[in-house]
Amino acid sequence: MSDTTKHFDIVIVGAGPAGMAAAVAASQSHRSVAVIESNPWTGGQLWRRPDAAATPRAGRHWHARFKACKAHLITEASVGDSIAPGHLLVETPASAFNLFYDRLIMAVGAREQFMPFPGWTLPNVFGAGGLQLLAKSGWPLQGKRVVVAGSGPLLLAVGAQLRKRGARVLCIAEQTSLKHLVRFGLTLPRLGPSKLWQALVCQSQLLGVPYRTGYWPIQAHGTDRLEGVTLRRANGATWNVTCDMLGCAFGMVPNLELARLLGCDIEQGTVRVDTWQKTSVNQVYCAGEPTGVGGMDRALIEGQIAGYAVTDQPDKARALFGPRQKTHDFTRVLNQGFALRDELRTLTTPDTIVCRCEDVTAAQLACCDDFRTARLYTRCGMGPCQGRNCSTATHTLYGWETEFSRPPVTPIRVRSLVDLSVEKE
Ligand SMILES: Cc1cc2nc3c(=O)[nH]c(=O)nc-3n(C[C@H](O)[C@H](O)[C@H](O)COP(=O)(O)OP(=O)(O)OC[C@H]3O[C@@H](n4cnc5c(N)ncnc54)[C@H](O)[C@@H]3O)c2cc1C
Repeated sequence: MSDTTKHFDIVIVGAGPAGMAAAVAASQSHRSVAVIESNPWTGGQLWRRPDAAATPRAGRHWHARFKACKAHLITEASVGDSIAPGHLLVETPASAFNLFYDRLIMAVGAREQFMPFPGWTLPNVFGAGGLQLLAKSGWPLQGKRVVVAGSGPLLLAVGAQLRKRGARVLCIAEQTSLKHLVRFGLTLPRLGPSKLWQALVCQSQLLGVPYRTGYWPIQAHGTDRLEGVTLRRANGATWNVTCDMLGCAFGMVPNLELARLLGCDIEQGTVRVDTWQKTSVNQVYCAGEPTGVGGMDRALIEGQIAGYAVTDQPDKARALFGPRQKTHDFTRVLNQGFALRDELRTLTTPDTIVCRCEDVTAAQLACCDDFRTARLYTRCGMGPCQGRNCSTATHTLYGWETEFSRPPVTPIRVRSLVDLSVEKE
């Protein structure tokens, strides 16, 4: 086998909780297992950090299990394309290679959802998770006045993290109503006791920080950088907050690009899988956030089920079906509790940028009926993020569907495509 061609019985894309758990389970067989991860570190969104000692206990436990298993880990390697069943094109900083598999598990996670509103592209307006990542990486936040806004339990985790790093968190603005939040909270003791504990820990770290339900941002102010934000309440009242930074996220969106590229069925914004985590495509499985955003517990359980299933260990997989159902129930109440309110769909003004890679405004999109037309006429979705952000935004704003995925699914060098296609010939 040449340097530009590798083969493994089982290939797992993504080394977050789902991918690590899948690798641990699959390695309990005699099959060869490889894990491909685009980051330099394993652990995914939740546990990835250079300072392993700062990782929470569950993360350290799974990192240890992953390290002890015999899976072959390739980091700083992104899956960019697939030209035939059983094939992936993988790129590293130094080279690229063709990777062939007998069975594949996609464990590629989710990303946070942005919603366009006037001023959202000003410097110092961040994705909430992005700001959390900067904080974890040691970005100076001491004394900075920060507002965290949007929706979902992530806002609490972000607020707590920022405060720990010395930021002055002025408020957390949660768009869902108090009624929905209470209903969600009441299910936690039954469906997510660990999450209830997490929420209580975050709340204790946020003592004194106002947590406003039924509030959402309608305008970020500033000339060359953020100076403040206007929040609105359901009764129409507004509240201006002067701040240095705004972290915004309106829930999570599953990463579906690879699944779409491989031809997997997508149902209601998630990859459709059967009880064994198998997708509609032969020999392709999926685990974690792409099958439904449900947090770490769901990712770990689905990862293990997929790992056992691809290595023909059905009894071990079956033993996890019950616990998995509980995590699916949690996803359902999470979606209900934090469903986006209709008002968020009407925040843009004609000059609000919707596609920030290509600076496409709401006014420019007004003549388009679907995402494809918008691409052709305005370059919406044609920039470096390849529509990752604006396709979700336009889906929420205008109901546009993005049913296709065009290679490469992550940016890769033209050189890699040329070299590997020459090799193919
Ligand atoms: C921004 C953000 C912040 C979050 N913060 C918190 C928090 O504070 N607390 C909390 O409890 N939960 C948090 N979550 C949720 C938590 O991260 C998830 O529940 C959990 O990580 C899901 O695990 P996963 O393995 O499915 O996905 P992930 O952890 O996202 O792992 C997916 C992995 O796949 C890799 N990958 C993706 N595409 C490719 C590709 N093409 N090639 C190679 N590798 C690829 C990614 O680099 C990533 O490491 C956050 C989620 C996000 C998106």
